[in-house]
Amino acid sequence: MCYSSSVPTTKLFINGKFVESKSSEWLDIHNPATNEVIARVPKATQEEMLAAVDSCSQSYHSWSETSILARQQIFLRYQQLIKDNIKELARSITLEQGKTLADAEGDVFRGLQVVEHTCSITSLMLGETLPSITKDMDTYTYRLPIGVCAGIAPFNFPAMIPLWMFPMGMVCGNTYLLKPSERVPACTMLLAKMLQDAGMPDGTLNIIHGQHDAVNFICDHPAIKAISFVGSNQAGEYIYERGSKNGKRVQSNMGAKNHGVVMPDANKETTLNQLVGAAFGAAGQRCMALSTAILVGEARSWLPELVDRAKALRVNAGDQAGVDVGPLISPQAKERVNSLIQSGVDEGAQLLLDGRNVKVQGYENGNFVGPTIICNVTPQMKCYTEEIFGPVLVVLEAESLDDAISLVNNNPYGNGTAIFTTNGATARKYTHKVDVGQVSVCGPMCVRTLHLYSKTCTQQPLFSMGIQFYTQIKTVTSQWKAEDSTMKTPAVSMPT
Ligand code: NAD
Repeated sequence: MCYSSSVPTTKLFINGKFVESKSSEWLDIHNPATNEVIARVPKATQEEMLAAVDSCSQSYHSWSETSILARQQIFLRYQQLIKDNIKELARSITLEQGKTLADAEGDVFRGLQVVEHTCSITSLMLGETLPSITKDMDTYTYRLPIGVCAGIAPFNFPAMIPLWMFPMGMVCGNTYLLKPSERVPACTMLLAKMLQDAGMPDGTLNIIHGQHDAVNFICDHPAIKAISFVGSNQAGEYIYERGSKNGKRVQSNMGAKNHGVVMPDANKETTLNQLVGAAFGAAGQRCMALSTAILVGEARSWLPELVDRAKALRVNAGDQAGVDVGPLISPQAKERVNSLIQSGVDEGAQLLLDGRNVKVQGYENGNFVGPTIICNVTPQMKCYTEEIFGPVLVVLEAESLDDAISLVNNNPYGNGTAIFTTNGATARKYTHKVDVGQVSVCGPMCVRTLHLYSKTCTQQPLFSMGIQFYTQIKTVTSQWKAEDSTMKTPAVSMPT
């Protein structure tokens, strides 16, 4: 493939240097609003990936022994640099990912909260003590880093998700190898530069780019002890299996189909606005999007108003004034979303609002799909069984709360769910009976504080999971005998 020299190239970050890859294989990065090529990203060569992981290994000893207060100071400076540069980070996200500038700032802000949290490392890494477990004997635990850790990130949150990964890993004393999404690497590179400016020593963070070969390299390299993955089920299941077979810790946070249950006693105005915001914000490309609504009883009559609100959203390029819904990441994503909408129609659902032919003046080549609402959906339909990951709300109906609960519990996905009601007993019953890790009452779900293993429906608070994931526990038992209690004979029996 021949490239114009004016197209900027994405660098690798190896041993504290931003270096041009020697790879012969490059991928184009497009602006999703225009499909123009805006940059190129390399598929890093084996030598480059080896250099990156070696750099992590070599810097591990000194970084893990750097005092916790010195590590904390770097992250205190880092959070300030991110705050000072939030607009620039947001611009790079909108250019590569397509989301609106306001939403891109939210993306950075949610990641920033994790960085702020790392600054509490002096309390987060505390161990436990139990004095006098027997005479003159105390036991205590240390939380220690585990070594070289790696992160593999998706395209939909170019700031927040990398910031879920390396700050927590590194503040614990690990070194880090990151592979951002090959579709949106620019924001990660800016974040790496800011971390370096905050004082992070060379070699502690290394960044490689690529697709399957880079992922396989991470799953297989013996120096890497743990992998954090966020992305689709297909990739997550593969990485979980391959990484754990190689003896690594792996956390795989995967796809979603989040249900919002609307009871007829809910506050109609607020509920409809929340549903529309959570279904169509970020063009539905959020793991916590409320992509499925279950209207219970009389709430079924709210559909026309739901459609009116969704219709009123403005579809445009992410950097345009007043935009609500930006483009999808790629033409392939647009085609996939459109075909899932069509599958609903073909299987007998009713298309109340069809965003497939939306026209955006001045951006005719962009990957736009307008807000779409499909009703009369049944659990067997493909538009219900698959994650759509676009601005599409599928609507099911239920006679009662119990019917709604069984619908949700029969769906294999379970990132989160929401119930809209003004009745406390209804909300309580839902939160206790629903088999989903994160439940929101009278509000859309957000990724501010929680982050889940979607496949198992279990819920893990991200931040404490971060500390647990990125540390290992060493237990020390010490017996400092007073001089007058010197042992006179060996103790060969277990004490009783
Ligand atoms: P993706 O799985 O296509 O890509 C994620 C990463 O895996 C990328 O770095 C990519 O290079 C790599 N990858 C892609 N396909 C692979 C394969 N077959 N084998 C090995 N590696 C592969 O995901 P995406 O499209 O970038 O992101 C969207 C998905 O991420 C959605 O399913 C969304 O629900 C999910 N997501 C989940 C969470 C969560 O916390 N559970 C958060 C955000 C996004």
